Amino acid sequence: MKAVTWQGRRTVSVEQVPDPVIQEPTDAIVRITSSAICGSDLHLYEVLTPYMHKNDVLGHEPMG
Ligand SMILES: [Zn+2]
Repeated sequence: MKAVTWQGRRTVSVEQVPDPVIQEPTDAIVRITSSAICGSDLHLYEVLTPYMHKNDVLGHEPMG
C-alpha cells in the first residue's frame, strides 16, 4: 500500500509500505481510500522528531 511517511525533520514523502497484518484476535484491517495529515501531525513534523523513525507512517484522518 502507499502511505505518507516521515523521512526526517520537515521531510515527508509518499512511499510504498508493507500491507497491514492481523497480529491479535481483536485486530481489524480497514480499507482506507484517502487520508490526510492534520495539525497534530505537525508536532511529528518537527517538535517530536526525536520520537520518529525514518519511514514511520503518518496520517490519522481516514476516509473510505
Ligand atoms: Zn487529527
